[in-house]
Amino acid sequence: MGVWVEKILNLVYPTFTNCVGCFEKIEHGKICPSCLDDISFNKTKDKKSFENFDAYYATYYSGSIKNILYNFKVHKDFKSGEFLGEILRDYIKDIGVKFDYLTYVPRDRDKIKKEGFDQSYFLCKVLNRSLNIPILKIITCKGKKFDQKQMNMYSRETNVKGKFFLTKDISNLTGKNLLIIDDVSTTYSTLKEVSNVIRKTNDKTKLTILTIAKTLI
Ligand SMILES: [Zn+2]
Repeated sequence: MGVWVEKILNLVYPTFTNCVGCFEKIEHGKICPSCLDDISFNKTKDKKSFENFDAYYATYYSGSIKNILYNFKVHKDFKSGEFLGEILRDYIKDIGVKFDYLTYVPRDRDKIKKEGFDQSYFLCKVLNRSLNIPILKIITCKGKKFDQKQMNMYSRETNVKGKFFLTKDISNLTGKNLLIIDDVSTTYSTLKEVSNVIRKTNDKTKLTILTIAKTLI
């Protein structure tokens, strides 16, 4: 069989795929057994409660979930993004709370322009397809001054102040249950800021946060 015939057949009838964690070839699914084993799920459904919201997280930020997030965000591997979306979907089903709308913590506008996509919006689209919950694009981020990763908690909080804005009227969200999606939670400073922006305009919304992972600090 010629190389091209084989390539075309492989496109039509793929015989293997690559693991989203380690890129090793696998026969079916999205992840190999050892990468799946390496994910530390938040099995007890622990949540953190804050003034304006409860924050759930589906996994702990360790092991192969770090690779999968990296492959999604940096390598723009959308199969990794689909897999992460499925983790969130299963988690939402497990906690058994009904949400009226999905929204997300947006990347800053310059980054979206540069990278061509917003990862948390992508995750919302996966959830929208499987759970049929409408997505609200109500927040924009005009850009953070510095990379959050290099900062302590105090500077993180001041860094995100005034960066997020509502772009739509949210008076119709009174009494509604809103789920805010983000990738990783560390100090919750960004999530607090985003929830403040919403609650300042409409304090009759119920906010819940769900991130893929929570760091261990
Ligand atoms: Zn793997």
